[in-house]
Amino acid sequence: MGQESIDTMDQHRFGEVSVARIPEREPMREPMFKFFPEMPEEVVAANEHWLAPLHYHPESRSMLLHFHSWLVRTRHHTILVDTCNGNHKPRPGLAMSDALNSPFLENLRHAGVAPEDIDFVMCTHLHPDHVGWNTRLHDGRWVPTFPNAKYLMSRIEHDACARLAEDGAKPQWARNIYQDSVLPVVEAGLARLLEGSHAVDDNFTIHPAPGHTMGTCRADLESNGDGAIFCGDILHTPLQVEHWQIASRTCEDKPLSVKSRHALLAACAERQALLLPMHFGPPYASYVKSSSTGFALDWNIAG
Ligand SMILES: [Zn+2]
Repeated sequence: MGQESIDTMDQHRFGEVSVARIPEREPMREPMFKFFPEMPEEVVAANEHWLAPLHYHPESRSMLLHFHSWLVRTRHHTILVDTCNGNHKPRPGLAMSDALNSPFLENLRHAGVAPEDIDFVMCTHLHPDHVGWNTRLHDGRWVPTFPNAKYLMSRIEHDACARLAEDGAKPQWARNIYQDSVLPVVEAGLARLLEGSHAVDDNFTIHPAPGHTMGTCRADLESNGDGAIFCGDILHTPLQVEHWQIASRTCEDKPLSVKSRHALLAACAERQALLLPMHFGPPYASYVKSSSTGFALDWNIAG
């Protein structure tokens, strides 16, 4: 498994806060029209010239899902936003996450941070590609990877994930998530179950943004008038900035996901906040402008 390098494209500064992208596994192809059943073919055709090759693979008609966490250093705290797929996780039938062996922790150290240094892990939602590094395998047991962190997640999301583990109709990979990536954190007393909005400090605030899952949250960063928004899977492809009405097959409540996506993009445009998603290709982040049709991408993220 190749190690992606961390370069200047992966570093951002917002007032007194720094953000670094911590890459995990290599990008993965996901059939575009299966993932977005409502996506018109002509929309992809009209945008293929800029979507390919970083966000779309035309030959297989697949979007490219990239995987990374965001490391946030405020004046007071070191925060990790989402924890990718993890290593050695049993996800039979889910190639994205199954039994990986990636250098994620090395990449974190390369950014100057050891697992012990993380004060908070923010889980935007509890899908397998966002909670994997919550835990690691140690002497045959799953233990919290970040022993000094408080793991922040929505109570709605936690309870749904726990219920899913008991649902015999669901695939085994989905039932395993709670057992190996959430419960060990709860049992260690490190989980904080959030209801409504929650300010971690004066730079970093978590807000409910339901739809993709019912407990999905986003995090708004602000320092000295400069800001960013971590949006989890409220968007999966940059095509959803202009085409924000299109929800994915994986969204639990599609109309609600559209509402949360619109609110997110409106907030980015109004505040000139950088959109920091979990699955976009290079440059991995974008500004959002208001346009006559709603919203437009602004990839000019330098400076
Ligand atoms: Zn995801």
